[in-house]
Amino acid sequence: MCNYQGYEFGAGRYPDSYCVDGYLHDADSDYLNYESRCCPICDRNGAIKWWFDYWKDTCEEGDERDFDVINEEHMHRATSLVDDIRFNRGITDPNVTEIPVGRCPAGIPTPAT
Ligand SMILES: [Zn+2]
Repeated sequence: MCNYQGYEFGAGRYPDSYCVDGYLHDADSDYLNYESRCCPICDRNGAIKWWFDYWKDTCEEGDERDFDVINEEHMHRATSLVDDIRFNRGITDPNVTEIPVGRCPAGIPTPAT
């Protein structure tokens, strides 16, 4: 469990997700999600897998490439999405499972003073 805050649930302008025991929960809702959505900080691989499964076997209309090729692209996209989320919080090492002290858990850059 970490202090991650993110934007996974579509509220838009403010962080609406937070980490509970490695899974993301919706800050706008009182109930815990039944869907196990892994935290991109403490479970990088799980979060990548979640996004991959979300996109798996889907493609743009008219895309006639093999699903092997398309899914490889989805995996690449899922990996860079999760790594971007981590990078915005100051993490470049894939093995790190905590947001560095002093970094905003929501990934908002501290305004330059
Ligand atoms: Zn976490």
